[in-house]
Amino acid sequence: LLQIYRPLNFIGFVYRELRQGLTDIEEMFKLLDQNPEIEDRADAKPLAVTGPVIRFEDVSFHYDADRPILKGVSFDVPAGKTVAIVGPTGAGKSTISRLLFRFYDVTGGRITIDGQDLRDVTQASLRSTIGMVPQDTVLFNDTIGYNIEYGRPGASQDEVREAARMAQVGSFIDALPRGYETPVGERGLKLSGGEKQRVAIARTILKSPSILILDEATSALDTKTERDIQQALDEVSRNRTTVVIAHRLSTVVNADEILVLRDGQVAERGNHWSLLQQEGLYAQMWNRQREASEAAERLARTQDDP
Ligand code: ADP
Repeated sequence: LLQIYRPLNFIGFVYRELRQGLTDIEEMFKLLDQNPEIEDRADAKPLAVTGPVIRFEDVSFHYDADRPILKGVSFDVPAGKTVAIVGPTGAGKSTISRLLFRFYDVTGGRITIDGQDLRDVTQASLRSTIGMVPQDTVLFNDTIGYNIEYGRPGASQDEVREAARMAQVGSFIDALPRGYETPVGERGLKLSGGEKQRVAIARTILKSPSILILDEATSALDTKTERDIQQALDEVSRNRTTVVIAHRLSTVVNADEILVLRDGQVAERGNHWSLLQQEGLYAQMWNRQREASEAAERLARTQDDP
């Protein structure tokens, strides 16, 4: 029996290794290989980060030549500040984050970080400077601790725990019977969207990038989850140059500047209060979202208290 069992066991082992490898490779391709046409210039230098200050100068971009996506977009993100980008679906918000990672090159204008054109620096140095909390995080089929440590392989257990605590996911993990050793992912514990996002935030806190891109989840969240995530995001973006691609306006209230993107152009800009006073697109979006969330809360109250 042992003679049959051993090879089977070995096949199981190889299969598990392959599966794990596959998830890693998929993640890597997603992150690094979105567009293999982008290559480092022969004389590309590592990005030298001082601020970092991000500057979009009259940036135009299209995926297909007959359909412009960004049409002359200009803005600055001063060092340590937060700029939020809002606007209808399809306006080009996520495209801005892809350009910042240089998954594509601009078709007009330029993007600089501390004065260096993204096309002149090595992609490796650019991508190690930027941390991204994506909309939908892929978790590896491994422990929850490993999934956080991935932000900085080799980090100590204390550092992993501290990052989890700052990301508002520490007490959730402590309450699990196997704590940080709990397997997650497809064949482990299933985490909710909000929990996954906080794991991603913990990972990013550990990576401690100088520039942060937050791509907010579009999904509706309950009030408590929303508050927890907001706290986690405030923690990770503090004193970091941050671009928030915002779908829920509640997260942009404290941004230093908000850009309202419409049809690939900046239609309005300012902070929350000045934009409300303009009574334009932002004010309309704000009122619509407020009505929707008030209605949801009324519904929740009637369900709690029949
Ligand atoms: P937003 O984040 O504001 O919803 P996106 O930046 O994702 O908008 O998309 C802007 C426009 O570009 C959309 O019309 C979308 O269909 C188009 N688009 C996005 N990615 C691609 C792509 N890889 N190829 C062609 N068109 C794309």
